[in-house]
Amino acid sequence: MLITKSQLVNKPAKLRPHIVILGAGASIAAFPKGDINGKKLPTMDNLIEMLDLEPILELGGIKNIRRNFEDIYGELHENDPSSPLLREIEKIVYAYFESLSLLAFPTMYDYLLLSLRPKDIVATFNWDPFLFDAWNRNKDKVPLPIILHLHGNVRVTHCPDHPVYGERGMYCPECDRDLIPSRLLYPIRIKNYANDLFIKTEWEILRKGLRQAMTLTIFGYGAPTTDKEAVDIMKSAWDKDNRFIERTEIIDIKDEDVLRAQWEPFIIRTYFDWSDNFYQSRIAKFPRRTCEALLDQTRYGLFVEENPFPFNAKFDELLSWIMPLVDAEDKMETIKI
Ligand SMILES: [Zn+2]
Repeated sequence: MLITKSQLVNKPAKLRPHIVILGAGASIAAFPKGDINGKKLPTMDNLIEMLDLEPILELGGIKNIRRNFEDIYGELHENDPSSPLLREIEKIVYAYFESLSLLAFPTMYDYLLLSLRPKDIVATFNWDPFLFDAWNRNKDKVPLPIILHLHGNVRVTHCPDHPVYGERGMYCPECDRDLIPSRLLYPIRIKNYANDLFIKTEWEILRKGLRQAMTLTIFGYGAPTTDKEAVDIMKSAWDKDNRFIERTEIIDIKDEDVLRAQWEPFIIRTYFDWSDNFYQSRIAKFPRRTCEALLDQTRYGLFVEENPFPFNAKFDELLSWIMPLVDAEDKMETIKI
């Protein structure tokens, strides 16, 4: 028994969400040569060198500056959370990420966003602006998933008193004040997600989404020890013991065995999908129909023909390829149940 591409395209269903979690590895895989000007994305291991933080760390009397950023930041914060050196470091980090610009052609993040639907969520731990900028340039063309910034972001602004979010230059319709930049959450052990209204709301939406989710994809997220609080929240919302057909997929360059052990608390029964790159993932094989394909495969035991995006395409080619999928979704929305 076979579900053909055309059946998949023409029969979308009202299914539960697909949640995608992005870590640093996702942005690095999506932008291996950096931004439009060749500015690379730093990792925790090379951030100090790449952002030229050594001189100010030395001036601040920090010993052994060859350590990774997470270590040094954590130590400084433990000694004095209000230290002027920390504020100086934060300023440099913010300015670097804010200066990054998206490439002009469709990137992996454009493909990712176009592959999901408004019922779905892409939640990122990354400070870089690429997910936001990719979402922004596609949002008026195709219905896109919700995006969440779990550790703040350099592009997202918000009202500190109302649940209003946007970008720079926008203001709050409730109180008429300018929206302020979202705070970045730095790598310390206790992050207190509830302290900041913007971040608290982002986590609430993720938690609710995870509880309802049918599929979970974890892409390039290494779950560092300073993110224990984050992983615990995700684990309890995913609640794998009460699930049956749901699926967890990991996209990561690490070995399959290592990943299977690391993400065991998220794997339903023994179902575990793994790929070392986005273009081999279920999202890329079944764009905008990931949950339909999963249901056909698991509940009905059907073979589902893959329907991959045309890769290396220009935006207009991508959009015309995607339109039959979107049209079928529009039709589904107009049918009353
Ligand atoms: Zn307001």
